[in-house]
Amino acid sequence: MDKIAVVPGSFDPITNGHLDIIKRAADIFDVVYVAVMNNSSKRPLFDVNERMALIAKVTENMPNVKVDSSSGLLINYAKSKNANAVVRGLRAVSDFEYEMQITAMNRFLDEHIETFFIMTQNKYSFLSSSIVKEVSQYGGNIHGLVPDIVEEALKEKFKEKSNQK
Ligand code: ADP
Repeated sequence: MDKIAVVPGSFDPITNGHLDIIKRAADIFDVVYVAVMNNSSKRPLFDVNERMALIAKVTENMPNVKVDSSSGLLINYAKSKNANAVVRGLRAVSDFEYEMQITAMNRFLDEHIETFFIMTQNKYSFLSSSIVKEVSQYGGNIHGLVPDIVEEALKEKFKEKSNQK
């Protein structure tokens, strides 16, 4: 039986921290679905299609990684893909409480789907999509924290936004 995992998230946009987790999951599982979850209360900078396109581009050399989106419950999405695992990244203790709550709820919803955590590399432990957006918006250098095409996409997005003002 194939070992199928889902790596869910907002990915607004994907960072090198996310990419590292995806790569490591792809080394362990037969198939990895990176699912852009579209039900968060946050107002995203990139729409779902833009986020998926960026992820597809930066994972194109990983043949067992598939990019998808979902707007429902993660557990239902995982079941629809016959996934037996959810993979999440852990940065700091601050992530722990939130992740524990979600994991417990997901286990309540379906005890057959296991959640796995991969600890981030130290160099990415401070990295989040929000901090990257914040710094990029004010012209700060985010080189090395996100893939090059994401760096470009952020510059374009903030240029578009400032032209709209
Ligand atoms: P969410 O809104 O669901 O937290 P994110 O896109 O922020 O979605 O994150 C998706 C997943 O990637 C989460 O498991 C998160 O902990 C993990 N993640 C985010 N940033 C990093 C990072 N720098 N290193 C490792 N994992 C990360």
